[in-house]
Amino acid sequence: MAKNCPHCGQLLDDAAFKCSRCERWVPNELFRRLCAEDITLIKNSDLTPFTPSLVAAMVIDLLKDSSLNRRLQEVGGGLSGKQEFNLLVFESYCHFNGIGHSAKKKRSCRDTIMHTLRDKLLAGIIESSSERTSRIKHEESMHSLGREGRLLYDRLEDVWKMPSPFEASEHLASMVIGDEQATIDNAVYLFTHLMHTLRSMEEIYAGIFLVEEDDFDWQALVGRYAL
Ligand SMILES: [Zn+2]
Repeated sequence: MAKNCPHCGQLLDDAAFKCSRCERWVPNELFRRLCAEDITLIKNSDLTPFTPSLVAAMVIDLLKDSSLNRRLQEVGGGLSGKQEFNLLVFESYCHFNGIGHSAKKKRSCRDTIMHTLRDKLLAGIIESSSERTSRIKHEESMHSLGREGRLLYDRLEDVWKMPSPFEASEHLASMVIGDEQATIDNAVYLFTHLMHTLRSMEEIYAGIFLVEEDDFDWQALVGRYAL
């Protein structure tokens, strides 16, 4: 499907938000589903619309290059499969939290969007860890990993209620690595990683406008436009 830019006449893909030639916003299916305030916000702040699936895929991709796992292997002297899984959940949580703080979201759908994002992130982690190892094979264990991941996400929220960064660090290590191997070194390392992720990704996530999963077909856009 194709459409013409109403400003300059350029032939565009039907899913396009912006004209590839004059770079002005063009009518699109997503804008028909958003309220006027949201559209104004997107245009004025030049935000890029994302679905939870798309942003989750981006985060999972970033986690592939992470050195956190390797670093903690050195510090802690070997991690179990469960600890490795927790670490991935923790790393995704660092991004999830950054997105929660920095990204704009469709009006009155914030909670739904963040819940979907959490579930997409966990599904992505479970999928990528089952690719890497043969530990996770069955539907059933994938289901229980999803449940464990959601539980860990809830518990990680407590980090923000801790009275000091030191206690927050200890709490993190206890949840992610377990009390027995939670040394001060890796506690501080985990907390620093959380803070660093929030800081380094802030600008990127502030440029995102999150919509609901079925608000637009992002797969139609990926590969055809530089998002
Ligand atoms: Zn144009």
